[in-house]
Amino acid sequence: MRRRRRRASIPRHEASFHPVPIRRHPGAMNDAPGAQPIADAVAARVRAIVRPKIRAMHAYPVARAVGLVKLDAMENPYGLSGEARAAMAAAVANARINRYPDGSGDEVKAALRATQGVGDDAGLILGNGSDEILQLLTMLVAKPGATVLAPEPSFVLYRMLADVFNLRFVGVPLRADLTLDTEAMLAAIERTRPALVWLAVPNNPTGTLFPAADVERIIAAAPGVVAVDEAYHAFAETSFLPRVLAFPNLVVVRTLSKIGMAGVRLGYAAAHPAWIAEIDKIRPPYNVNALTQAVVRVLLRHGDLLAEQAAAIRRERARMVKELAALPGVTVFPSAANFLLLRVPDAPAWFARLRDAGILVKNTHGWHPLLEHCLRITIGTPAENNAVLDALARPA
Ligand code: PMP
Repeated sequence: MRRRRRRASIPRHEASFHPVPIRRHPGAMNDAPGAQPIADAVAARVRAIVRPKIRAMHAYPVARAVGLVKLDAMENPYGLSGEARAAMAAAVANARINRYPDGSGDEVKAALRATQGVGDDAGLILGNGSDEILQLLTMLVAKPGATVLAPEPSFVLYRMLADVFNLRFVGVPLRADLTLDTEAMLAAIERTRPALVWLAVPNNPTGTLFPAADVERIIAAAPGVVAVDEAYHAFAETSFLPRVLAFPNLVVVRTLSKIGMAGVRLGYAAAHPAWIAEIDKIRPPYNVNALTQAVVRVLLRHGDLLAEQAAAIRRERARMVKELAALPGVTVFPSAANFLLLRVPDAPAWFARLRDAGILVKNTHGWHPLLEHCLRITIGTPAENNAVLDALARPA
């Protein structure tokens, strides 16, 4: 059954990286007497104080999705069972929010070790989402002249963070079929001696699973840290986590966001304890709040439910690959994640078609030359996926 959803208009900037215009509301501060001289003085100081690189950046775009089927951000589309929700409510009710949270999150760490395959000997650190872990890793290596290297296209935050911390970013293009160009990666590592290499495995936004043997060659060749970002590991069913202590320079980064807890914001990194000790020094105290800690501990006890949901997403992914690839003019790239990247004849038009049907996906056209006319579509529930197929099968 296809449900009609209320359509919401999507501001134009959210389809791409254009800056958000500042709107003047009547009666707002901008119109107050004397506001213009202040605004001019602020602009002058921003110009004088904030680095040109940061001034030229745009805030990470988050599309407004109210009233839309949300298939743009690789969330788990399934809810929790009544029992899990009741347990979560009780955990929140009992949280002692008048106190700071446990600064190192020991009980959450114990739950992760018990349920997510983090070995007892590996060091473990928590972040306010894995975004924060990515930021801490970039900060850790930030010294003048240091280089950060990643394949491209990959997760946009890798480059953004290098820019923020004034590091040189080297992007190594994937091959035309969006697989890893391992020889080019190795040559770039040799040439630029990066302090940090990012490998999203599977990769976002392509869904590509870089072969483990190639990742190993990169780890062996890299003079600095290699961060293997396993945000999508639950959909690939392979991981470097069990071998994290077998390499002197490997950090495995994970998140709970894609397996059903994007709203609680919890990421983690595992590595040799000596690396984790260094990262811990630059971590803001109390970075993971008490409510997150309380809820995550409960939800991790419902591992069977989360695993079933991941399996359902993998099954739907296989169905969607077949159905989408049968559409005329569509190429579906192989994906080991909970989303598919497709090349379509006209990405902006197909994005608009989906949006008109009340479905929000990501138009990656314009992000990188290799993503020409590509859309990234998160795997949803069977009904949501059917809505995508209906909208795309209809004549334009
Ligand atoms: N790594 C990768 C590869 C991602 O795609 C994302 C989310 N888009 C993240 C990290 C960050 O996820 P979170 O902050 O929700 O943990």
